[in-house]
Amino acid sequence: MELHTATAGGEGVRIRVDYGRVRSSDEVPRRRGTTVSVKGLFHDLPARAKFLRTAGAETRVASEAVLLLALANPGVGLKLESNGRTLLDLGPDEVWTDRIEAIWGDLAETLVPLAAAGGAGDVSVSGLVQRPDAARPRGGRRYLFVNGRPFRDPGLHRIIDEAFRTTVVEGMRPSFFVRIAADPSGVDVNVHPAKTEVRFRDRTAIEGALQGAVRATLAGLASTRPIGRAGRVVPDRGAGGSGSRPGGPPEPLESDVPQLALFVPGRTDRGDVDGRLAEVLDGPVFSGPELWQLHDRYIMAATRDGLLIIDQHSAHERVIYEEIMGRFEAGGGTAQALLFPVTLRFSPAEAAAVEELSGLLARLGFELEPFGERTFLVRASPQPHPRFDAERCLREMIHELTEGSPLVDSARNQHERIAKSMACKGAIKAGERLSPDEMRELFDRLFATELPGHDVHGRPTILRLTVDELDRRFGRS
Ligand SMILES: [Zn+2]
Repeated sequence: MELHTATAGGEGVRIRVDYGRVRSSDEVPRRRGTTVSVKGLFHDLPARAKFLRTAGAETRVASEAVLLLALANPGVGLKLESNGRTLLDLGPDEVWTDRIEAIWGDLAETLVPLAAAGGAGDVSVSGLVQRPDAARPRGGRRYLFVNGRPFRDPGLHRIIDEAFRTTVVEGMRPSFFVRIAADPSGVDVNVHPAKTEVRFRDRTAIEGALQGAVRATLAGLASTRPIGRAGRVVPDRGAGGSGSRPGGPPEPLESDVPQLALFVPGRTDRGDVDGRLAEVLDGPVFSGPELWQLHDRYIMAATRDGLLIIDQHSAHERVIYEEIMGRFEAGGGTAQALLFPVTLRFSPAEAAAVEELSGLLARLGFELEPFGERTFLVRASPQPHPRFDAERCLREMIHELTEGSPLVDSARNQHERIAKSMACKGAIKAGERLSPDEMRELFDRLFATELPGHDVHGRPTILRLTVDELDRRFGRS
């Protein structure tokens, strides 16, 4: 091994070491920096060489080691060559997105900066996670670093996957690059011979910080699917903007037209929604939120930097899903007595399911009364919107809950199964014309949910089209 190093230009030291013995140490000038050369690695222990795998396999392992160093130190330039081929050539002074782009290209465009919401006490997390729509079942790049050190931890990967729940289809493996900063005294790095694992004194704090940050990121509009180029991600943009609308406060929501009731009587608090919009849209957003409906299925919303296109069914699904989950936690929904009770007859399996689920259905607002063999009388139902068809919704739900479907099979428990099924069957459909007030109500409700950009199937509710993208397409820039 030869080490040639200098702390300043001119004076340098070159040390030669043969298998643990220093052979020479000379003053040899060089420019600032260090060169380490290793040759004949197995000269003294040829038996070790037998344990090597194929050249290809060893190159992969070496590349992965260099890759981890490259990711952990984006400010350091790195070049990896093997058999005369350049495998990696990374410039110095890169930020994380540049480095990821240099290594994996387009992947960088699908990443969103982690919201700064994560972290408590002396734990904080930062970095990048993939937009849910770009996640794939395989090939996700998943890297964790603690205090600059890469480490492996499948348990924390699961925590992050858990935070992605309902925004991606089950089994997707979104990429992430997450840095954890924690008090070094609470991180044991000596638990693994190759030092690829660590142990945290307060693992709960780490898990909570990760989950909180990912969840907060997925709540933001930056995590929704853009049309065309996503635009440059701004790393570490801080803890959310606090802009206000230009042109004074928004008009109050006044109307005599029946509103989408969406389980909770009364209106969404405009203050909450405005705060949320300002946050997710990063600063001042609207010049008065103008909404219009396209082909009775999409709601278009003019924003300061372009346009949001909202799928009305998907959006309403997200709203109902979160409403129901909230209701389950709070203990029950509002039912509306049916003027003419409906009689429903089910298959034997479905009838058994109705019996079994009757308690939960009642908490949703469905009052069902046994009425002879496999037959039930529906006395009351929830009324999520004026055109809600209780009979049809109930039939479809019970069928889905009995037979299963990708949607309900991905649920973690009975509450989630019912909430997802009801959200899908009870939401307004594509093809339904909405009044301006209904559109406004749905829009506001959507932005009052935890994850407005993602429906319960793992699909987007919102597409973003920026004026920049339009300019690009029209050849203006
Ligand atoms: Zn659906």
